[in-house]
Amino acid sequence: MNINLLSEEKDPMGAAIYDFLKHGKAGRLRVFSSQFDEDEIPVTELFRAYKDMPRQEQVALQLAKGRILDVGAGSGCHSLALKEIGKESLAIDISPLSVKAMQKRGVKALQANVFDEHFTGQFDTILMLMNGSGIIGKLKNMPDFCLRMKQLLAPGGCILLDSSDLRYLYEDEDGSYVLDLAADYYGEVDFQMQYKQIKGDSFDWLYVDFDTLSAYVSQYGFHSEIVAEGDHYDYLAKLWLD
Ligand code: SAH
Repeated sequence: MNINLLSEEKDPMGAAIYDFLKHGKAGRLRVFSSQFDEDEIPVTELFRAYKDMPRQEQVALQLAKGRILDVGAGSGCHSLALKEIGKESLAIDISPLSVKAMQKRGVKALQANVFDEHFTGQFDTILMLMNGSGIIGKLKNMPDFCLRMKQLLAPGGCILLDSSDLRYLYEDEDGSYVLDLAADYYGEVDFQMQYKQIKGDSFDWLYVDFDTLSAYVSQYGFHSEIVAEGDHYDYLAKLWLD
């Protein structure tokens, strides 16, 4: 499992977030992938307010309670929205500039990799939002993810994580799917980002359909259910232990 932190020289998303916070605008945050065409993340979206969030994210914020951990918090949009409804959270991110930006915004934030065992704590709600399963990277990391979550979850706690089923990318006109079953799982992708001259390293990012997620985590004693569904193969899942 990768337990590294980013350095400022390789933190394009953090640089974009920090720029936007400082100047009220940012340049293009470019996204490359070996599987997809070049794309862009609108930096304003990383600063979305509660009313502009997809419904699954709003539901997650409503359900969050107790000691809340916001994993891969980015600009801190979810932690800020939680604060507005009187809920406290701790935000963590591997991006130094995102953490700096969150602290400036008044979010309790810490630079930490969720997979690093030096980061400890007991949380009643662990939020992983905006395709939060991405952080798991690959399906083969599911066991490490489950064990790590067991360390961080307080008794009775839960994980609220969103993702999408990328199956639609392989859908034929007649509605059937052309999946190569011998290939890697279709939700395993790689991304690389660039902001101005700052280019990050390529990283693995996992999109996972609910059935696959459920099958993996159940092997580690987690129950799972879909608590909200989006418009486009996306969902919010709740995972919990007995
Ligand atoms: N949750 C935010 C940002 C999503 S982007 C939002 O919804 O707007 C994903 C974030 O996860 C990035 O800021 C990235 O730096 C962070 N991240 C990636 N891997 C991580 C890890 N292992 N531990 C903690 N944060 C991680």
